[in-house]
Amino acid sequence: MSSIDRRLEINVERFKADFDTLSQIGATNNDGVHRPALSQNHLKARAWFRERVKAADLVFQVDQAGNHSAILPCQKNANTTLLIGSHLDSVPYGGRFDGALGVLAALETLRVINECNINVPINLEAIDFTDEEGTLVNFMGSFALTGKLDKEGLDNPRGGRKELENGLNRAGLAKSDILDARREPKTLAGYLELHVEQGPRLERAGADIGVVSSIAGISSYHVKFIGREDHAATIPMDDRLDAGLGASAFYLAAHQLVLRNYPECYVNVGNICYEPASFNIVPRKATLSLEFRAPNSELMQHLRDALINKAKDAAEEHKLGIEIELLGDCAPATMDEQVQELIVSSADHLGLKSLSLRSGPGHDAQAFADLCPTGMIFAPSIAGASHSPREKTSWNDCVNSANVLFRTTLQFISSKL
Ligand SMILES: [Zn+2]
Repeated sequence: MSSIDRRLEINVERFKADFDTLSQIGATNNDGVHRPALSQNHLKARAWFRERVKAADLVFQVDQAGNHSAILPCQKNANTTLLIGSHLDSVPYGGRFDGALGVLAALETLRVINECNINVPINLEAIDFTDEEGTLVNFMGSFALTGKLDKEGLDNPRGGRKELENGLNRAGLAKSDILDARREPKTLAGYLELHVEQGPRLERAGADIGVVSSIAGISSYHVKFIGREDHAATIPMDDRLDAGLGASAFYLAAHQLVLRNYPECYVNVGNICYEPASFNIVPRKATLSLEFRAPNSELMQHLRDALINKAKDAAEEHKLGIEIELLGDCAPATMDEQVQELIVSSADHLGLKSLSLRSGPGHDAQAFADLCPTGMIFAPSIAGASHSPREKTSWNDCVNSANVLFRTTLQFISSKL
């Protein structure tokens, strides 16, 4: 640490100007943004990012998965890279901080290091990952880069095949090349990410900075209940094969199961799609979008088995067929202890109160945790609002957390000197 100038900080005015400009791309009239992955709005944000990278005299790069990067190469041709990332895509009609804060703080970190001519013993790369939110393919960019995406995942995207094809066409990407974005793990020196907390714990604890200890595992499934369509007014109530009943019974059972037996876990049914879908037809098919999360692998497996059993029970009870299709799986991830210490000491240096916490939401950092030293910094979310235009982080907290990312990066690279 002694070699790091104690006064170095990010350029707050430039960071704010960037944040305000980016917030206008895909802006909604209620202070949110609508930038689903590979939509026109998202591609506009990426085009703007590319210009900012070029204006900063950094090397710009796009890989086969569409990940956009600003690179500050090591003067001595190092063959390892510290990645600092997040994402510029948003959920539909989401907030302006989720992902964007991390990408802009990463870019600002590289700019300041470049301007100050700081000795960089490894390559530094600020990266905007494709589709972190999983609108088309869950973690498409970071999973492709780390070799965690496979052909099956691309052939069966959770956002729909046609939607993926359209998005890739808009972005000028080829599905057949995406897996080539994989990098050799030995080239990854580490991964850092700043993100908003998306929950209320930092605010409630009066803490300025979250130091993430682990990220919950996430699985997503389509659960299909299959019955028989019938006239809603002629088939007796006790003689129906109503797919909607199976779906509803499972939904309630899953909710109760997690509430009663899995206090550290989450389950969500984000959608139920009926076929046919009409007032006067008993639905033949009901497809549920199911997602669940657990903090460690053992609980994850336990919960998975329990939910699948509940789904089968619901089908049996209502005399329905059932199909269960895995759409995406992301293992729980533990953050590197030394990187956590660097984050804590960076926050201490800046006089900020830090708090260790687990992340329920998934992040690109998950893809890297088993490959290289990985760490995540959280900025407080006001009232914990997230995936909503209400999402907000005070500007003071944005600046503080970006400075913690900057200082953690300096410490990380100085440990490599
Ligand atoms: Zn995010």
